[in-house]
Amino acid sequence: MCGIFGITDSKDASKLAYVGLFTLQHRGQESAGIVTDDKGTLRHHIGMGLVSEVFTKDALESLTGRSAIGHIRYSTTGSSHIKNAQPLVLDSYLGQVAVAHNGNITNADRLKADLQKNGAIFQSTSDTEVILHLAAKYRGSRLEDTLAKNLPKLEGAYAFLFMAPGKVIGARDPSGFRPLVLGRLGKSFILASETCAIDVAGGKTIREIEPGEMVVIEGGKASFRRFAPAQKFTRCIFEQVYFARPDSVAAGRTVQTARYEIGSVLARELKDVKADLVSGVPDSGTVYALGFSKEAGIPFQTVFMRNHYTGRSFIQPDQRLREFTAHLKLAPIRDVIQGKTIILIDDSLVRGTTSRKIIKSLKKAGAKKIILAIASPPIISPCFYGIDTPNKTELIANKLTVEETRRFIGADELHYLGLENLVSACGDRKDRNFCFSCFTGKYAGYPGGRRARRPAAAL
Ligand code: AMP
Repeated sequence: MCGIFGITDSKDASKLAYVGLFTLQHRGQESAGIVTDDKGTLRHHIGMGLVSEVFTKDALESLTGRSAIGHIRYSTTGSSHIKNAQPLVLDSYLGQVAVAHNGNITNADRLKADLQKNGAIFQSTSDTEVILHLAAKYRGSRLEDTLAKNLPKLEGAYAFLFMAPGKVIGARDPSGFRPLVLGRLGKSFILASETCAIDVAGGKTIREIEPGEMVVIEGGKASFRRFAPAQKFTRCIFEQVYFARPDSVAAGRTVQTARYEIGSVLARELKDVKADLVSGVPDSGTVYALGFSKEAGIPFQTVFMRNHYTGRSFIQPDQRLREFTAHLKLAPIRDVIQGKTIILIDDSLVRGTTSRKIIKSLKKAGAKKIILAIASPPIISPCFYGIDTPNKTELIANKLTVEETRRFIGADELHYLGLENLVSACGDRKDRNFCFSCFTGKYAGYPGGRRARRPAAAL
């Protein structure tokens, strides 16, 4: 996971990077960092916490310079540490180089072991640092040449932003697992994980960076080159299902449109269902529920008050904290719930923890019957490409049948969306090029259809 944002040629570079990262905050809340290029000197400020906590006014003002790259990190178990916060900044024979990464490099362990054998000393435990060490070995005179030579050695998923004195470089893995879009704001170029960050910073989206493509922004100009032939384009479908912000555009439509459509399709799949109201688990479930409501003619109602100041419950690294924060986050609205048959929509079932708790609290508030509709198929396999899904043994759909799952979470009925319907709702026909390995257990892999190895560290 994680979010990245970069901007060039602006007197407000660090402030706009702040705006971009703030807009991408939903992609990770563990740490945030910005590096600026002040006439060839890279300045950085990186810390643990939310963007608004890490960057005080003084910190932002100390980040002088006309270009900036930034990163927000998603927390995963065991790796929540400042030394893994990004962007990483290293000194190299090319001078200072900074990198921000969204994704997961599946062969990082092997590459790292080889590099260490040859004397490399790593400063973090994240997989991201590998690319900088690889780059340091190949003595091209320009960072982009060095990267073009070394990026093809990486397997897995990545959207990268690099900064070296005078330039910002973006690169996307040859399968396009993780998103990266290019935008303009006056004379500035923007690179971001999602279009919503370009919009909020006041820019216009130009296009996606293509799989296997690199963009080099230098001297006010952007040049594009391919560092690897594009593999089969397999963008992560979980961006649409859960991760991306509804106002972002991906695969030819806003995520909001995709989710509304998924809600309609769910209603068609459940065409004989009878209920008093339909509702969504906030926030992502709400749009699904609106689409369902319109299609099925069943009224939409909000059944939970969400407290927005708690962060995402799933993101808390340990189970005990995760359970505690889930209670803080969603409070049932009794009058709406009492005596009602409710169709409740959530984007996904992972371990089943959230649904179980939510259904319990709805029943406690007097709900007569809960029909849980999941806006995606059962997740049966982990993601090796950067989405934080747990290993197979923790995935509920891998341990229990649908009927057993229904009983475990306490729903009266449980329905999952079919994969084909999900795919067609998520993108325009020409853009239905998704990775959905988590629903099938079949990994498109990279390169050439190989099964991915376990990741070194998920971002
Ligand atoms: P669980 O409680 O383990 O079944 O997780 C499902 C809930 O977590 C759903 O409400 C989703 O909105 C959310 N969710 C699903 N996948 C992720 C993820 N990779 N990171 C954070 N939250 C997630």
